[in-house]
Amino acid sequence: MAKGLVNRIIPFSSVDGPGNRAAIFLQGCNFNCLYCHNPETINLCRNCFICVKECPYGALSVEEGIVLWNNNLCKKCDICLKCCPYHSSPKVVAMETEEVVTIVKRISGFISGVTVSGGECMLQSEFLISLFEKMKDMNLTTFIDTNGSIPFQDNQKLISVMDMAMIDVKSFDSEEHKKLTGMDHSIVLKNVEFLGNIGKLYEIRTVIVPDILDNYSNVDSISRLIAKINPSIRYKLIKYRPLGVRKELMESCIPSDAMMNELAGLSKANGCNNVVIT
Ligand code: SF4
Ligand code: SF4
Ligand code: SF4
Repeated sequence: MAKGLVNRIIPFSSVDGPGNRAAIFLQGCNFNCLYCHNPETINLCRNCFICVKECPYGALSVEEGIVLWNNNLCKKCDICLKCCPYHSSPKVVAMETEEVVTIVKRISGFISGVTVSGGECMLQSEFLISLFEKMKDMNLTTFIDTNGSIPFQDNQKLISVMDMAMIDVKSFDSEEHKKLTGMDHSIVLKNVEFLGNIGKLYEIRTVIVPDILDNYSNVDSISRLIAKINPSIRYKLIKYRPLGVRKELMESCIPSDAMMNELAGLSKANGCNNVVIT
């Protein structure tokens, strides 16, 4: 039975795909985006136990060399996240597929499906496959929210149980993408083409960051790509907000409404017919 490293589960979300959905966030990411709003989801815990001593409520302990988190004692003060030298979190639980299925079963009458996000959920594709197989038995739709860095075409088993994906295209320029995320974007663009062409691409997202990225050039190129593949794929333009980001890494102003509207207009002029601003 597969296990997933689960950072958190939100039972009802209306922003992680169509309809009301359970959103499952997995721990661990292979990007290191300057604007990451949840940097504690990037690295896996190294069991250094620094946070165990710092927790004021006794919610953390050590068992067999591994940090254990007690949700019932946790007051969500996030002191453990602030003191972790590795930007990780001790509030991560290795869950069997069946444990997640049990949680989803309780709410299955109120949701249309599940979305698995991260971190980067594709790093745990065995867990994704086993979870999605169970979700299909429950007639729930299965969505993936991904940074697009891991090839989908190599994973037919996952494709067969996944309804659709949402992919971030953070920059169309290779060098800029590397500076922003630490990784190349060639697989991201291949995934966009592949999933778009088989009808499994629900949404592409680009975060607009005025002082750091070449936003007009990015949106121009990405919207042309979407229009070429399928103009109905949703293109979501996201306003950069400095909330939760590592400020020392990401000093930028928030884009104005006028700028966002101009970029949406550019995307529509390039042929996209489903553009949203958030
Ligand atoms: S958030 Fe972290 S430090 Fe705070 S109570 Fe929970 S485990 Fe302890
Ligand atoms: S979460 Fe961070 S501080 Fe806590 S044990 Fe893991 S690596 Fe150490
Ligand atoms: S891909 Fe997402 S989770 Fe990973 S570092 Fe970037 S913003 Fe954070």
